[in-house]
Amino acid sequence: MAIGQTVFLNGGYRPVAEAAISPFDRGFLFAHAAYEVTAVYGGRFVDLEGHLARLRRTLAGIDIPNPYTDEEWADIHAGLIEHNGMEEGLVYLEVTAGAYGLRDFAGPETFTPTVFFYADSRPLIGEVARDGIRAVFREDSRWKRRDMKTVQLVSQALAYRAAKAEGAETAFMVEDGMVTEAASANAWIVDSAGRLVTRELSSSILPGITRAGVFSLLKGSGIDLVERAFSPDEARAAAEVFTTSAGAMIAPVVALDGQPVGDGTPGRVTRRIQHLYYEALGADVAKVAPWCLG
Ligand code: PLP
Repeated sequence: MAIGQTVFLNGGYRPVAEAAISPFDRGFLFAHAAYEVTAVYGGRFVDLEGHLARLRRTLAGIDIPNPYTDEEWADIHAGLIEHNGMEEGLVYLEVTAGAYGLRDFAGPETFTPTVFFYADSRPLIGEVARDGIRAVFREDSRWKRRDMKTVQLVSQALAYRAAKAEGAETAFMVEDGMVTEAASANAWIVDSAGRLVTRELSSSILPGITRAGVFSLLKGSGIDLVERAFSPDEARAAAEVFTTSAGAMIAPVVALDGQPVGDGTPGRVTRRIQHLYYEALGADVAKVAPWCLG
């Protein structure tokens, strides 16, 4: 494999050493990006139309405006192999949702994409085709390992965008009819008996550090805790709902799908948890959060 020294980045061909992308790029921060890899054989692209059609579909699916027509995409591909003198190998392209100097899940209404291409010269009909390869079986976990805090966040980014479009600040993620967690926080409800309910740890949710912090504060508080999954209907009917995360600590959820939770204001148990949590932080609760002293 030989990486061509000329790449394409954001509208122009340039030496790879001069190609730079912002660390705030959403491809880097949220894996909010599409890619394609097209074979080149005998100086010609193999099935380029198919790759471009799939690229169009992926971009539409992840809310990234398609910056080029198919003809323009084809021209960039052709220019890249010409610049690199490539006859056989692969052309890699990536389109990300771009950078705007911030890390926020929802992002601006319209993204300005980053477009990057490189050429990789290599024989496509070689040893693998001649000698074959060995394989093993693995559980298909794409992406079911939510217990690991990776940057595979495109689903959450899209959930935040949908929430924003509906005038909400976050989304509760639902799988098989049950809430897993919020888009970037653990989800909790208070049931009719005043017990806290939050989903048990598994590969379906991130083991929140704030969640664990709340658990430890509950000991001796007289508040009961049940670890189990709950459904969206149960959350809608719950007396109180809140989320926990390092970023927002204890965030009361006052509306779900546009309907008030309880009386539409943060509830008594949530206020109690906030109080315990802020106190444990060493905050001057009377000064910074008098509203949770009620
Ligand atoms: N769940 C998800 C999906 C998250 O992204 C986060 C935080 O980013 C959390 C839960 C809460 O984790 P922590 O309390 O460690 O911030």
